Amino acid sequence: MNYQTLLKENDLKVTPQRLELLSLMDTKGHISVEAMYEEIQKKFSAISLATLYKNINLMMDKQVVTEVKIPHEKSRYEISKETHSHLHCRECGEVVDIFLDFSKAVAKVEKLSHYKIEGENIIFSGLCPKCQTSHSNESVNLTV
Ligand SMILES: [Zn+2]
Ligand SMILES: [Zn+2]
Repeated sequence: MNYQTLLKENDLKVTPQRLELLSLMDTKGHISVEAMYEEIQKKFSAISLATLYKNINLMMDKQVVTEVKIPHEKSRYEISKETHSHLHCRECGEVVDIFLDFSKAVAKVEKLSHYKIEGENIIFSGLCPKCQTSHSNESVNLTV
């Protein structure tokens, strides 16, 4: 992904900090502001949390970046892509994308509720494969 083009296409000034933020969101996916702040300080030690928020909000205004709201947890941020849902592991906190077609479900919701649905932010929660494995190991150890 070319972050420079992404910024320019959305009338945003290209700054090294913004490029770094986009690269963080691209490589780490679904990252919290706190985690971004920790990472970006390694390269730009003088950056303030306020500046970081300002940049993220600006990129959100231009829909370059999307906020992913997770119940009872801090929001994560990602580079905007086509509509998708998320999986959230309640154990390790990992958030991953899942691309599913909800058009039938949305049509049904509209029919049942008479709402005009404008967005579907669906989060599936559970245990990721890694955490499932560590859990089954625990129970094996207990029975031995
Ligand atoms: Zn997990
Ligand atoms: Zn996502």
